[in-house]
Formats: sequence, structure tokens, C-alpha cells
Amino acid sequence: MGETVWIQATQLSRDNSALAPLLRRSERSAEARVLMIESEERSRLYRYHKRKLVLLFSAMRHFAAELRKRGLEVDYYPLDPEGRHRNFRDALQRHVEQYRPSGLVTMELLDRSHARDAETLAAGLGIPLRVTPTTMVLTDRHHFAEEHRGKMRLRMDQHYRGIRKRLRILMEGDRPVGGRWSTDPENRRALPPGTPIPTPRVFPPDTVTSEVIVAVNRIFGDHPGETGDWTLPVTHRDAIVWVDDFVVTRLTHFGTYQDAMLDQEHLLFHSLISPLLNIGLLSPLHLVKRVEHAYETGHAPLNAAEAFIRQVIGWREYIYGVYWLRMPELAEANILKAHRLLPEFFWSGDTAMRCLSRCLRQALSTGYLHHIQRLMIISNFATLAGLEPRAVLEWFMTLFLDAYEWVMIPNVMGMGLYADGGGLSSKPYVSSGAYINRMSDYCSLCSFSVKERTGGTACPFNYLYWNFLLTHRRRLGSNPRMGMAYRTLEKKPSAEIRAIRISAREFLEALNP
Ligand SMILES: Cc1cc2nc3c(=O)[nH]c(=O)nc-3n(C[C@H](O)[C@H](O)[C@H](O)COP(=O)(O)OP(=O)(O)OC[C@H]3O[C@@H](n4cnc5c(N)ncnc54)[C@H](O)[C@@H]3O)c2cc1C
Ligand code: SF4
Repeated sequence: MGETVWIQATQLSRDNSALAPLLRRSERSAEARVLMIESEERSRLYRYHKRKLVLLFSAMRHFAAELRKRGLEVDYYPLDPEGRHRNFRDALQRHVEQYRPSGLVTMELLDRSHARDAETLAAGLGIPLRVTPTTMVLTDRHHFAEEHRGKMRLRMDQHYRGIRKRLRILMEGDRPVGGRWSTDPENRRALPPGTPIPTPRVFPPDTVTSEVIVAVNRIFGDHPGETGDWTLPVTHRDAIVWVDDFVVTRLTHFGTYQDAMLDQEHLLFHSLISPLLNIGLLSPLHLVKRVEHAYETGHAPLNAAEAFIRQVIGWREYIYGVYWLRMPELAEANILKAHRLLPEFFWSGDTAMRCLSRCLRQALSTGYLHHIQRLMIISNFATLAGLEPRAVLEWFMTLFLDAYEWVMIPNVMGMGLYADGGGLSSKPYVSSGAYINRMSDYCSLCSFSVKERTGGTACPFNYLYWNFLLTHRRRLGSNPRMGMAYRTLEKKPSAEIRAIRISAREFLEALNP
């Protein structure tokens, strides 16, 4: 009997290394099969956003159809309302009883818990499990661990440079194109009013996606999110069209306005590729080559191409390495001892703070926020308000289309909340309302005044920011990157400090009535 290739929902890559021999006819044994399972139990690990479930199941069904077209036999277990195979174990058992494979082979899973589950399931069924290297990331996690073990503080830049040199992306000989590794100083500008925002391409649901939408609404009706007006690609071919649309219409301004936010526009010049990349509909290498080509052919400036490439082969790869290096401690980190419950309005968006309300509502309905909305609105608020990190993590894991533990845990615990005490970023990403006002138009539509520093009508980000610095002075006061903020704090008159403390206490006490 041959081995069965088990492909999970996050492994839909055409370069899946477990699948590769089957795609080469000469290496395909007559009994070899592909196994794909839609697990209701796994889909309830968090109360996942309905759109995420639609994306996963529709992409799986389309991939199974593509593999069958290429001559492979696929044993596919769709969601089963009759409950015969609600989880991986039941479906695996049925598969093993029916086909008696000599073993299972699967590509390395990026989430630690998923990798362990696969091992436990195979061991429980008494069937050998062979694991092939992942092609979903470009970093070897064992190599990353060797390079970084024992280092207290990790920084992204070094890893990014290494990958660029190794893959020869935006390089001229041994030097980076343009003479600098990072174009960050040219980027991150506020969006001038009236800048035209391109309309992204849409991919209306086909029959398969429409069927999945019905099934998800029936089985997961209690999960958050709406599935109407479906626009996302669910196949490899459409994912590539989506990237091309980004490159042609949005890449040019990506770097310059990367940090900008608008009340009525959620995508601006971002790519919205992470939900596709993280399940294998896109390959990181294809993406960065496509963007490098746009630069080389004069279709995108260097500051845009480099900024985008840095996100994909810099931040994404570094985050993956950090996750495997710092787990399991990272998932439980809470160095700032933040214990406040998540306010109810995180599940409704019902708050008078315009920036927060817009981002919460958008996440609840679409499952997407761009990076700065996640970092400088949601996480900034959560850090300043001292919200319990695990609760914030659960909120993100539940709602976001691109959320997987390997990428969400370091981003939330490290970058977003500084719960790891600076292992991942050199200082907490926190700000007062002034930053939000500079980078967005939210404040002009808010009932709070961003200019007022304390009192009932003042922007809560203002007094919460200074209150946070006061509360954590012992830990953060000696951080050189916080020096300017603490020097400003020292100059504040004691009456203002008292008013800050009172406003913050009153606000925080009212958060969870
Ligand atoms: C609190 C918080 C939680 C996050 N959770 C996730 C998550 O669960 N899944 C996820 O893929 N990204 C996560 N990110 C990173 C980043 O915000 C998203 O990848 C990005 O917003 C996705 O939108 P986009 O595809 O339009 O990205 P773009 O802005 O167009 O960027 C291009 C790509 O770069 C990559 N990228 C950029 N920054 C990061 C980063 N810090 N970590 C990993 N990849 C990065 C992504 O693949 C992204 O698609 C999180 C960031 C924060 C601050
Ligand atoms: S005034 Fe404050 S709360 Fe209101 S939108 Fe601006 S930053 Fe947000």
C-alpha cells in the first residue's frame, strides 16, 4: 500500500513538498492518495469569523478539484451535518479502514499545536507519520533557533538582510539596490486629503463558494462575521490575479502611505494578501519576485517595492522564527501584569471613540484591518488600558482571516502588547491621540477632542498614554527609546499629572461596568 498525503487547510500550496512526488507522474504509485478533511471540531477551536471558514473550505474544495483534474485520487471529507466525521480523528480512521495506507505524509505545519495534533492523531491510529519540510515560509526554524538562541533581544533587520542576500532580491552584487537596506525614512507619511484611492478588484462567489457559504452559515451561525458580498479569491489562479491587481493599482503608494488610516476606506494601498499567503494560495517567493520585477521594469518606485518586500521576507519570516524560538512562554507572556477584562464593546464596536469603533466594527464585519489599525488603534488601546493579553489574543484569533498562532502570537504578545517585555520590539508601540490624528481622519469625526489632555471630553488616548508611562516608569523609564517621552513627562506640572491619573482612573473603571 502507498502513503497517503494529508493536506490540511493551511497547506494548499502548489509547492506542498509532501504532494510534489505525486504530481510527478513517474514517482506516483498506483495506491497513492490525497486526504483532505473539513473538521468541524478544529473550526470551533476559536469562534472563527465566518468569512475565514468560507475562505478555508472553499479554497480546499477548489484545490481538491484541481488535484483530481491532474489525475490524483482525493479522499475528501466535507463538513458533515450528520456528524459521522466531525473531527480529524473520525475522518482519518475511516480513511485508514477503507484504504489501509502504509503511512501518512504531511508537510511541516507552521502552528506548533497543529503539528502536535497531527503526531498524536497518527500515533493514536497506530500509523506512521512522515513530515516533509514546509514551503510556506523561507526560513528554516531550526537554523533560526541556532542563530538566535540565548539572545535576549531579537531584531528583524539582520534576518531580513540575510534572506535578501541568500535569494538575491533587490541586490546589486553584495549591496542592496539603491545603497540602503531599508527605505523606511521615506515612507509612513500622512495621506493628503483628496488622494484618489483605487477600487480593488472583486471575485464574486462561484457555485462552490456559494455552497460553502450556505454550509458555514448553517453550521457556524453562532460565529461572528458576515458572509454577504463575498469578494476574495479562493483559487491559486485568482490569487495571482489579485496580486497583479495590487501591483498595478496600489503598490506605487504602498510604502509612502503604509501607516495612513481613513474612516471610510479600509484597504487604502495595502495588499490584503495575508489570508491567501498563510494558507498557500500564494507563495512568498512568487510575491516578492513579482514586486521586484515591477520595480525593475519601472512600474513601482524603490521605496514601495522595498517596503513591501521587507514586510513579506523581513517581518513575516522573522515573526515565524521568533514564534518557534519563544514558544510556549510567548503565548502566556504578561510582563506588564495587565489583567483588565476585555470590554464588551470589543464584540460590538459600540464605543464613542471613533477610531476604535470604526476598527472594531470593520474587524467584526470583514475580518481584516491593516497593520497600523491593528497596532496603533486596537493594540495601542489594549496596552494603554491594561487589557489581559490572552483575552486580546483570543479576540484577534477569533476575528481575523489571516490569524494563525505562529503569526498571531508574536504579533499580539510581542509587537502589539509588549507582553514579552521587549523580546520582539525595542519599545512598546503606544501613542497619544496626536499620532492617530496625524495619520488619520478619525478625530475630525469623533465626539472626543484630540486637543484636550484631561477631563470628560478629552481624547482617552491622551491621558491613558501618560498614565501608562507613569504606571510603568520603573520598567520603561531607562529604555533609551522612551527617553524623550519620559523627559516630557518629567516637565509636566503636578496638577496635570494629578488630572491625568484621575481621568485615566475614571475612564478605566467605567470600561467594564
Ligand atoms: C496585533 C497584530 C496582529 C497581527 N496578526 C497577524 C496575523 O494573525 N496574521 C498575519 O498574517 N499577520 C498579522 N499581523 C501582521 C500584519 O498586520 C498583517 O500581516 C497585515 O496587516 C495583513 O494585511 P495585508 O495583507 O494587507 O498586508 P500588507 O500591509 O499589504 O503587507 C504585506 C504582507 O506583509 C506581511 N507582513 C507584514 N507585517 C507582518 C508582520 N508583522 N507579521 C507577519 N507578516 C507581516 C503579511 O504577509 C502581509 O500580507 C498582525 C499585526 C499586528 C500588529
Ligand atoms: S479623538 Fe481620540 S478617541 Fe477620538 S478618534 Fe481621535 S484618537 Fe480616537
